Amino acid sequence: MNIYADNAATTAVSKTALTAMMPCFQEVYGNPSSLHSPGQRAAEKLASAREIFARHLNAQPREITFTSGGSEADNQALRSAAALGARKGKKHIISTKFEHHAILHTLQALEKEGFEVTLLDIPPDGVVTAEQVKAAIRPDTCLVTVMFANNEIGTIQPIPEIGQVCREAGVLFHTDAVQAAGHLPIDVEAMHIDMLSLSAHKFHGPKGVGVLYARRGIPLENVIYGGAQERGKRAGTENIPGICGAAAAFDEACVSMEENAAYLTPLRDKLIAGLTAIPHTVLNGDPVRRLPGNVNLCFEGIEGESLLLLLDAKGIAASSGSACTSGSLDPSHVLLALGRPHEVAHGSLRLTFSEYNKPEEIDYMLEVIPKIVSYLREMSPVWDELEKGQRPHLI
Ligand SMILES: *Cc1c(COP(=O)(O)O)cnc(C)c1O
Repeated sequence: MNIYADNAATTAVSKTALTAMMPCFQEVYGNPSSLHSPGQRAAEKLASAREIFARHLNAQPREITFTSGGSEADNQALRSAAALGARKGKKHIISTKFEHHAILHTLQALEKEGFEVTLLDIPPDGVVTAEQVKAAIRPDTCLVTVMFANNEIGTIQPIPEIGQVCREAGVLFHTDAVQAAGHLPIDVEAMHIDMLSLSAHKFHGPKGVGVLYARRGIPLENVIYGGAQERGKRAGTENIPGICGAAAAFDEACVSMEENAAYLTPLRDKLIAGLTAIPHTVLNGDPVRRLPGNVNLCFEGIEGESLLLLLDAKGIAASSGSACTSGSLDPSHVLLALGRPHEVAHGSLRLTFSEYNKPEEIDYMLEVIPKIVSYLREMSPVWDELEKGQRPHLI
């Protein structure tokens, strides 16, 4: 059986998205900046894609900027809020320890440019609180950026409450909603979100297409300079096929959101129940306040990398953390922020599902994974010491 259980890393493009993209390659291939009819047909496609994103976010089309992905949207959001803050003499930014590297590395770059960054601690359940944000806000705070849902452990943050705190304090609020968009309801007005990033390839759209929502009146800084596309805020001929595919995928995901969540949640819970029955195994993040398709566990006494290789040999594509950190030997910054000791964080497994996964796949994993964990533990010198009581169990 071949199982793709790494949907937080990326997803398959849906048939609907592919169908929306196809005419943009050989029929509607004009440049939307051109005044002639072929160009104007492309411009119409662009406008309609913008309208779809605006509608599902409860935003206005002019508040939507297309980018090359979630990373670029995150960079542009943070750079824009920082520049705006600096002009008012406000150079303090609040974020969290478990953000995606597109946020954390941009913040590091801003620190070198003279900004001060406070990274909030992550409570054991993987959910930061609005009170933590409130307590960290200072008179010179220009931006709060907190992710909507974490890409490794899937925990959902109290976005409306954080938005409320920021609005009352007069501080801009950005959220990296790359894992949430198309999976959880988003209303930028009701949730007091000033800026938001999303990426199409996390909801069955194509790779290389993102959206930055920025509330009207918030001036965007360019990350890419050149032509006047995207109201002069993001140069470069628009990726019309990608943008049309992204909009079609987003529309489809938003329309079937409740149905998908109702399908995935019991499968997720069944897998969590079955796998946490393995001794010395712990679920990472709150069991309920998490994305419908996310399971993330630590198994004591084994290496996540060995587990992934054996799973792959059984046809199961999984991850030990985010795609960007897997491949390096450092344990996930998210699991460390959650308070997992290094040894435990090394034995992590992330299984992420979409509506394309089948219930039989969950049964197959419940059959295969406990056996692989036992096999790896039998071979592990660390497990031997744990069993002999030569070192204490940590979980
Ligand atoms: C995938 C991801 C990103 C990066 O998006 P790209 O489109 O791959 O650049 C940013 N933030 C989060 C939370 C993600 O999961």
